[in-house]
Amino acid sequence: MKFLFYPISSHGHVNPLLPLLQELVSRGDEVVVHVTRAFEAVVRPTGAAVRLLDDGLTIPTALTGGEHGPTSDQLGVRILGIMRHGLRETPRLLEQARAEQADCIVYDPMAMWGRAIAEVLPLPRAIFHTSVGTSHSPTFQRELKKTLKGLPPPRILRSILGLLWTSEVLHWRHGLPRVGMNDTTSAVEGLNLVPVPRAYQPDAHLFDERFVFVGPSVPPRDERKDFPLEQLDGKPVLLIALGTSALNQRPDFYKACFEAFRDTRWQVVMACGKGLEPASLGPVPSNILVRQWVPQLDVLQRARVFVTHGGMNSTMEGLWHGVPLAVFPQFGDQPVNAARVSELGLGVSLTAGEALEPKVLRDIVERLDTDPGYRSRIAEFQKELREAGGHRRAADALQQYAARRRAS
Ligand code: UDP
Repeated sequence: MKFLFYPISSHGHVNPLLPLLQELVSRGDEVVVHVTRAFEAVVRPTGAAVRLLDDGLTIPTALTGGEHGPTSDQLGVRILGIMRHGLRETPRLLEQARAEQADCIVYDPMAMWGRAIAEVLPLPRAIFHTSVGTSHSPTFQRELKKTLKGLPPPRILRSILGLLWTSEVLHWRHGLPRVGMNDTTSAVEGLNLVPVPRAYQPDAHLFDERFVFVGPSVPPRDERKDFPLEQLDGKPVLLIALGTSALNQRPDFYKACFEAFRDTRWQVVMACGKGLEPASLGPVPSNILVRQWVPQLDVLQRARVFVTHGGMNSTMEGLWHGVPLAVFPQFGDQPVNAARVSELGLGVSLTAGEALEPKVLRDIVERLDTDPGYRSRIAEFQKELREAGGHRRAADALQQYAARRRAS
């Protein structure tokens, strides 16, 4: 069978897909993935064919920001711009998709171009989520509304209107379906793959059999490069990383971490993101290793505590490795993950005040390490993670679904 995949070009959206792509290829399926050049080298080793998208569709890993880094509104405007740009590309991508003669389309609900193509072509279509299931979760919708804080500011409003306008024009000119921001959280298809275990999904009882909670797949990634893993053999390791979006540009937070952990028993590994030069953070304490990018899975294998922004992948990767989490959420689904981690007793959720206060931060990390309750609850949760089935179950579900739909 031939599958067309339309993810979003960012690490948080491409990484969770890689094991599934590889699994399908190993079963003899033909897999075509649409990403920007920045992700070509990441996808190719899976054996999938890559069709390049315009470079402008890459989610930015850096933005100009002040002392507290770029704002979520700044990133929001950029993401809305990318969605609009992607919509403009849709007529061309649709022609390409027609020529592929595929059997099934799998899209990320944020990739509006993928959704539009899926609606036009008479093929079975599925969703691959990169967060918890959103469509049937009042808890998720409530948390999202809380972070959006009422009416959007004018520049966000302008970007939303721009997106709607482009969608309208494409509808009239090319007969494409109308799409809008709501679709990114409300879209539902005949098959919806969710890379968290059912036990983690908020409002799980409201999701029917179209949703398959396959959990994460976290095979090793070969990305050590020149990172000095051998330096992590003595002291207990604390990983601090806020993901890959430009909201990881938080010099204020990284400096608070320097204060919190200098001259302590911890060996800290800190990823400060591509938008900040480690040198710009001032003198680095001798027990802290700072890099723009760290081999997160290799470090997690050795870590005792993980201070994370609560991206879906980082959250699952930390728990997969049995590491208690201190979640400092920035944006999007991260507050939902922070709340879920804390409700399930797998870690704590940090407010901005706590994350920026060195003593509070240090005490929280100590508590996560020394209170055995966290590690024993995580050990229980790891059973759910392993039993959810990961990429193999996702591949089974996708193959069966595509075959059934093609036959009917
Ligand atoms: N990541 C990494 N090294 C880093 C920062 C991030 O390997 O220094 C990886 C991390 O393992 C995860 C992905 O990038 O797979 C980030 O995804 P997540 O959903 O956690 O956050 P996002 O970047 O989407 O906010």
